[in-house]
Amino acid sequence: MAYRITLIPGDGTGPELIAATRRVLEATGVTFDWDVREAGADVMDKYGTPLPDTVLDSIRANKVALKGPITTPVGTGFRSVNVAIRKALDLYANVRPARTMQGIPVCHDNVDVVVVRENTEGLYAGIEHDVIPNEAAESIRIITRRGSERIVRFAFQYARANGRRLVTAVHKANILKATDGLYLRVAREVAEQYPDIEFNDRIVDNMCMQLVQRPREYDVLVLPNLFGDIVSDLASGLVGGLGVAPGANFGEELAVFEPVHGSAPKYTGMNKVNPTANILSGALMLRHLGELEAAKRVENAVAAVVAEGKNVTYDLKPTRDDPTAVGTSQMADAIIAAI
Ligand code: NAD
Repeated sequence: MAYRITLIPGDGTGPELIAATRRVLEATGVTFDWDVREAGADVMDKYGTPLPDTVLDSIRANKVALKGPITTPVGTGFRSVNVAIRKALDLYANVRPARTMQGIPVCHDNVDVVVVRENTEGLYAGIEHDVIPNEAAESIRIITRRGSERIVRFAFQYARANGRRLVTAVHKANILKATDGLYLRVAREVAEQYPDIEFNDRIVDNMCMQLVQRPREYDVLVLPNLFGDIVSDLASGLVGGLGVAPGANFGEELAVFEPVHGSAPKYTGMNKVNPTANILSGALMLRHLGELEAAKRVENAVAAVVAEGKNVTYDLKPTRDDPTAVGTSQMADAIIAAI
């Protein structure tokens, strides 16, 4: 039976990446009934909103979505569609594995960390306003016991289910005593309920330095929203960059799979960017659907193509202007051939 999945191509480079991902997933032999839904900057004129209600209704009905990146105007314009989807569907846990792959030059081998980012509160609650226009503005950072407890519990459950040894809670409780003080207290309480998993905590600035210098000492990181966003990109940089960093958003019942990276708009329509992050997000989706063998085949095929280093995009070549770099769709072809 075909899996009915909401498919959101997004905008910028999103449609090219989703086209490549779709072909790779279909090459596994698993069958899909794609429910394609438009969202993003390109549909503003057509629907009067970048996030039509029908997109959310489709995800609610199908329970699973695969998504390309969506552009958010900087400093002005409509609010982030990506954040709106996560909040509207209460997809509170953003899971972003970062693992080194053979063939990608990195500073440290054998890095394998998973960033678990709280997705619904913190500074992304979006409660901000001008105090005096053009002179002063303020933003309110929401941290709740409920939000902290469920994200830390998610991190421990994830660690248990995936044979992980350590959960590190990342915070700024020395300065943000009320908000991150609460987050850290709750994290310590939850940790006591998981004596089989080691627990420690790090202040976020120190965490960044430690990840750059000694990333192998870390395993599962659990962070409030903004710190999780920043540390996700740092973690992707440890393993080859945004082009290879997959992600997933989970709620109690619903799941949306999307790469860590954004829409890389300067490369739109150029068949240039790396489809790996989106394809590996698709592999995470296959795991979620229980299609473990198909997921493994996709991951192995990606690993083989990356290790060979021939049919890969510009970002995985020794220099950014390497003339032997292939395009998005050609890298997907190579992955399909490897499957
Ligand atoms: P970005 O992730 O789009 O790109 C930053 C840089 O990373 C690119 O210029 C490129 O050099 C590299 N990169 C990104 N994806 C790549 C890929 N697949 N292959 C190779 N290189 C890749 O970040 P940005 O430029 O800060 O943001 C662009 C837009 O995307 C913004 O509007 C932002 O709000 C949005 N965004 C969306 C999401 C999402 O859809 N979940 C996430 C982050 C940013």
